[in-house]
Amino acid sequence: MDSAQFREFGKAAVDLIADYLDNVRDRSVLPDVEPGYLHGLIPDRLPDKGDKWEDVLADVEKTIMPGMTHWQSPRCHAYYPAASSYPSIIGEMLAAGFGNLGFSWITSPVCTELEVAMMNWLGKLLNLPEDFLFSEGGRGGGVIQGSASEATVIALLAAKGRTIRKICQNTINSNENDIRAKLVGYTSDQANSSVEKAGLVGSMPIRILPSNEKGELAADTLQEAVEVDIANGLIPCFVVAAFGSTGTCSIDDLESIGPVCNKFDIWLHVDAAYAGAALMLPEYKHLAAGLKYADSFDFNLHKWLLVNFDCSAMWVKDSSHLVQSLSVDRIYLKHQRQGQNPKAPDYMHWQIALGRRFRALKVWITLRVYGVDGLQAFLRKQIDLALQFSEKVKNDPRFELSVPPRMGLVCFRLKGEDDVTKMLYDRLMARRKIFTVIATAQNKLIIRFCINSQLTEKKDIEFAWSEISEQAMIVLNNNEP
Ligand code: PLP
Repeated sequence: MDSAQFREFGKAAVDLIADYLDNVRDRSVLPDVEPGYLHGLIPDRLPDKGDKWEDVLADVEKTIMPGMTHWQSPRCHAYYPAASSYPSIIGEMLAAGFGNLGFSWITSPVCTELEVAMMNWLGKLLNLPEDFLFSEGGRGGGVIQGSASEATVIALLAAKGRTIRKICQNTINSNENDIRAKLVGYTSDQANSSVEKAGLVGSMPIRILPSNEKGELAADTLQEAVEVDIANGLIPCFVVAAFGSTGTCSIDDLESIGPVCNKFDIWLHVDAAYAGAALMLPEYKHLAAGLKYADSFDFNLHKWLLVNFDCSAMWVKDSSHLVQSLSVDRIYLKHQRQGQNPKAPDYMHWQIALGRRFRALKVWITLRVYGVDGLQAFLRKQIDLALQFSEKVKNDPRFELSVPPRMGLVCFRLKGEDDVTKMLYDRLMARRKIFTVIATAQNKLIIRFCINSQLTEKKDIEFAWSEISEQAMIVLNNNEP
């Protein structure tokens, strides 16, 4: 394909995206296909002759769309958002167009330096403690990871390295393997599944501690577990606190668990995958206070800050722990400017992979186009839509809110036994008009309703509520004694 064809293909693809997003509300949010649907729609081996791009693009509607769950639909309320915005899509396209990798400063100085600048912009925007930022003489700094899951793995590996190095320095005849086998981490039963997976990847058992009635990890629960482990000869090393849990968006009280971590010299990682973005709003700024105790913090721009997947912003207070834990040097990775400027790190030592995408470009474009005012207005609108939905739940005596609405998430259920909520949920899924997911809170089944799409408007809340309300009526009528 030459550049003339690319121009035409690219313009047609941009039109396709714009048409898709303009009309996505009219598509059923969930596809009507069975597993294996694609078999038969595409050949089972690649044909010898290439197709014309026009034919390939035409097949998007015929072949791809039938199997698409429309995450950008204003009727998608499942999980947490998959952020998107036009500026970010352009950023993705430009990065793909430039096709550069930036694993060390020299491999593409702008990749590194724009990322450093963006991480400081974001850190200031979110009111993070100063020591998380890149500064002259400081050790803090941020990096864009692919996902919150990766950030947790990285934090765990850094925590592990820090603890092992500290014990080896302070104890004569210490054996690294013996220490490694004794390390243990902690989180609550409300933490995302990725925390447990980080333990699997990083070979560290993670204790899943019971959360309290607010869905939070209580300091005394943590302290008790830590003391029991120490008494049994184990070495507490790593805690992951939830700042916006996946189930109900609960927020662990960092002001009380932080001091426990500091007292026992345990690395505290704060997983703010979804809710972290709200720290840019003055009305949520107070929640940043407990971050002074944290060693690392991560939030996903690809969840709630208008930047397409993948884009997870992670900060550490002391980046030397990342570099010492993750550095593997080879002669071909060295360069003459290595280590000359703390604001020009070699990011290959801050992540798992060697190669890295130019993700900072889409961040730069998106943040500049929206500005602080635009970003704040976007978040406030989403929070307001969630409040509008929660009012409807509150005003209907058949329903109850399971926890107070938080950020863009409302958790609710039909009053009574779980089976009526389950029947309602099954009906909603079978009808495919809106997409929600279920979870549990305080041992009861709940439906999670999240404002996901940047396209969601008041009329979508009305639509969702009328669907839920009608289906509830059918469930409750059928269920009458
Ligand atoms: N942490 C929390 C609180 C989440 O809600 C999620 C996903 O929803 C994750 C981590 C995982 O995020 P990622 O897909 O970026 O790994």
